[in-house]
Amino acid sequence: MATLEIHDLHVSVEAEGGPREILRGVDLTVKQGETHAIMGPNGSGKSTLAYSLAGHPKYRITGGTVTLDGEDVLAMTVDERARAGVFLAMQYPVEVPGVSVSNFLRTSATAVRGEAPKLRTWVKEVKEAMAGLQMDPAFAERNVNEGFSGGEKKRHEILQLELLKPKIAILDETDSGLDVDALRVVSEGVNRVRSGGEVGTLLITHYTRILRYIQPDYVHVFAKGRIVESGGAELADKLENEGYEAYVKGGASE
Ligand code: ADP
Ligand code: MG
Ligand code: MG
Repeated sequence: MATLEIHDLHVSVEAEGGPREILRGVDLTVKQGETHAIMGPNGSGKSTLAYSLAGHPKYRITGGTVTLDGEDVLAMTVDERARAGVFLAMQYPVEVPGVSVSNFLRTSATAVRGEAPKLRTWVKEVKEAMAGLQMDPAFAERNVNEGFSGGEKKRHEILQLELLKPKIAILDETDSGLDVDALRVVSEGVNRVRSGGEVGTLLITHYTRILRYIQPDYVHVFAKGRIVESGGAELADKLENEGYEAYVKGGASE
């Protein structure tokens, strides 16, 4: 049973006037099969947490530990993290000029699995996953993120998730910019992956809307770079009604 353990994580970024601490002691344990929603106001550090777990070079770890089944994730390169089973769907996916979706997916799968997937089964796998996400087969021949609509970007992320089958999936604002129909299709994709019981999901979001489609086991409120409250799905209802105000006012640390 894979377990991601984050302990007292501190992360800084280079800012004007010197390093600025964004994460201030994050503690979180995510087990395979569990879904944790991380919710918080804009600027609270949610994306910083996602990028730090994925190994983005801009984010400097100044304290704490992150382990996957006891292995030191922070000591791993970005590729090693992916191979170990950590997957990040990004809030702002980048364009990869000249690389088709089909080639990109196969290269990623090869990197994660350690060997190239057999072409015939692979083509079938991709076709099925795309059909499940209501994607036009022609999409596979387009260049990655080139002219993708918001909905296409998100579908492409979930397509990667379904094909790469990570142990820990980090979904940062997967719901942003989606209309209700797209949100439902994308959520169904996430739920298909979850239903295998083999992925631990970190669902990062500002809004409670996606949680109507993807039921979290745990909800954590993120404010000013740390988790300030944890609970079950009912905590999301409270946030929907009351917002984040109670968590952000009175803090002196900005
Ligand atoms: P959230 O995802 O919760 O909206 P972020 O993690 O994106 O929050 O940002 C948290 C804070 O860190 C913000 O004040 C943001 O401006 C700052 N920040 C994030 N990344 C950088 C960076 N690369 N350089 C400077 N400041 C950053
Ligand atoms: Mg601390
Ligand atoms: Mg963010």
